[in-house]
Amino acid sequence: MKLYSTAGQSPDVDLQEAIFRGLPPDNGLYMPESIPVLPQEFIDNLDQKSIQEIAFAVCKNLLGNDLTDAEISSIISKSITFEAPIVELETGTEVLELFHGPSMAFKDFGARFMAAIMSHYLQKSQQEIRILVATSGDTGGAVAQGFYDTPGISVTILYPKGKVSDIQEKQLTTLDKNVTALEIDGTFDDCQALVKQAFLDEELRSKFNLASANSINISRLIPQSFYYFSAYAQAKKKGNKLPIVFSVPSGNFGNLSAGIMAYQMGLPIKAFIAATNVNKIVPDFLKSGKYEPKPSQETLSNAMDVGNPSNFVRMQILAGGELEKIQNIVKGYHTDDAKTRETMKEVFEKYDYIMCPHTAVAYDGLKQYRKEFGSDNCGIILSTAHYAKFLPTVEGTLGQKVLIPARLEELLDKQKVAISMNCDFKGFKEYLLKEL
Ligand SMILES: *Cc1c(COP(=O)(O)O)cnc(C)c1O
Repeated sequence: MKLYSTAGQSPDVDLQEAIFRGLPPDNGLYMPESIPVLPQEFIDNLDQKSIQEIAFAVCKNLLGNDLTDAEISSIISKSITFEAPIVELETGTEVLELFHGPSMAFKDFGARFMAAIMSHYLQKSQQEIRILVATSGDTGGAVAQGFYDTPGISVTILYPKGKVSDIQEKQLTTLDKNVTALEIDGTFDDCQALVKQAFLDEELRSKFNLASANSINISRLIPQSFYYFSAYAQAKKKGNKLPIVFSVPSGNFGNLSAGIMAYQMGLPIKAFIAATNVNKIVPDFLKSGKYEPKPSQETLSNAMDVGNPSNFVRMQILAGGELEKIQNIVKGYHTDDAKTRETMKEVFEKYDYIMCPHTAVAYDGLKQYRKEFGSDNCGIILSTAHYAKFLPTVEGTLGQKVLIPARLEELLDKQKVAISMNCDFKGFKEYLLKEL
């Protein structure tokens, strides 16, 4: 796979370099030069295939020049170790549960695949690296778990103080060994800016082997396309009425970009719903054609509190570049906190199903889409996290106690360990220079 920078000022790179650099030096994003279409026969027979078989075919299609079949198989068997089932709410409305991995959020797909592919390259070169990652909630836990105790890799996680849930915080701050958590007095955008700046800093670059694990890393995007194929396969197998509409609860737009990648590889999809909370930069863009980043606002769906989505340019290019092409395949809707709570209650009462706030935003997005375009479709709502990660919101909204999976309950008793820090780059850099 050859990759170019969207800013157009850096040389093309191969897969390995794109993964370890994370960001091109011109501050753009790495994009695959081409996305080959999968054979029609593969698409026609999807319903016969497991998610691991799908993952293999997609990887071979994209990365066949970089990795051997055996290497691809090994990376997949290390990372795609859990299922992504669809669960029916009613005929034609399905929830794609992406929270069956170790951190109970969809980010496990990207983080584990990235850890496996990095560790594959590091074994070959015998190098050591330091991962820097900013999290709005779920990335940190998935990355911490994905890279935990991996030889040659240490991880520094930056998270916004007081803006992640208790369980999310515990997932970031209770691992030892190679994982360190920094509690930043600022927003997620501040954390992300610190990480970005570190990657552009010549002194840090020359002293350390820094790598990014944010959704800007291309190795996180690729595995997120697997479950779109898998969801389609399951829906078809169940005899659902196609075409499919995917509703994607979105923040940095990595997940939605991965879906469009699947679409470009030949997966038949009618539309993607860009479902956001009041941080509705992309829905606004889809209406007006103007992209206007704003400071992020805090909401119940905190993993989507993003005011300047880092994958926006990728999404734009993947969807065809021109506004009209993007509008054809991506439909934007937003849902505020009051409506999010109402939706969680409605779904619980109607279907006896508990959704996390992010998933509820996607459910409401599908409802709005159907009001505008009709219900003659199979709607698949991506459920990006287990509800128990947002316990106070869920219990407060539903007005009752809910069951917590054992592995999350154990976490709550553990002691938090984090280093507090202001959000100025100078202090952050000094810390890195001292610690690493
Ligand atoms: C990260 C996250 C999102 C947003 O995903 P993007 O790829 O950044 O758009 C949505 N829901 C949950 C639970 C998340 O953790």
